[in-house]
Amino acid sequence: MIDVSANLKAVEQRIAAACQRANRARNSVQLLAVSKLHPAASIRAAYQSGQRDFGENYAQELRDKAGQLADLTDIRWHAIGPLQLNKAKYVAKLAYAFHALDRTELAEELSKRRAGPVLRCYLELNLAGESTKSGVAISELDATLPRISALPHLKVAGLMCLPPLGMDPESSRPFFRSLREAAQKHGLSELSMGTTHDFEVAIEEGATIIRVGSAIFGERPG
Ligand SMILES: *Cc1c(COP(=O)(O)O)cnc(C)c1O
Repeated sequence: MIDVSANLKAVEQRIAAACQRANRARNSVQLLAVSKLHPAASIRAAYQSGQRDFGENYAQELRDKAGQLADLTDIRWHAIGPLQLNKAKYVAKLAYAFHALDRTELAEELSKRRAGPVLRCYLELNLAGESTKSGVAISELDATLPRISALPHLKVAGLMCLPPLGMDPESSRPFFRSLREAAQKHGLSELSMGTTHDFEVAIEEGATIIRVGSAIFGERPG
């Protein structure tokens, strides 16, 4: 059995050490526990250790787990994966934040279906121009941002990226830096970047929220 509580403590220590190296306050970085493909029981264990923010990739899995864990009323669900228009309703209904906003059409659908507090969104940038990955090209940011920002029921909190997986966490650094520079240029304060592989580098480059899965929950099944 994976000891989620011990893993969370170990990740917490690594976050604190990275913050110290970067001269940042610990509370300037939020930990998002990415629970995709792990059972609701693992999420409950992390919750019991004090974790409140959880990331899910698949809209229907998010819907199912939110149902199973409905008794945890202060849990915050973050949708972090590519989203089809016809599944946007689940995210609009259940999520606190959405980290993979990659097109205006999707933003419009989310805004239309959102009721209650605004949905915090991170616009995903495809910084390496990878055709297999979603995300807006940096050259499209100037045109895309104003259209999305004008929508009433969502707020663009910041930018997000998932760099190509390199051998070495250091290979993510230039991408994290580009994301930070793009956010600065557009007056956006939040950066969703860094995974198990490279979250310490992300913190050094200014991440405000890191998305960590396997270091907390173990390897994903399948
Ligand atoms: C799965 C996933 C993560 C977490 O990855 P780990 O390597 O398990 O930490 C972070 N971000 C996104 C977009 C993901 O899909």
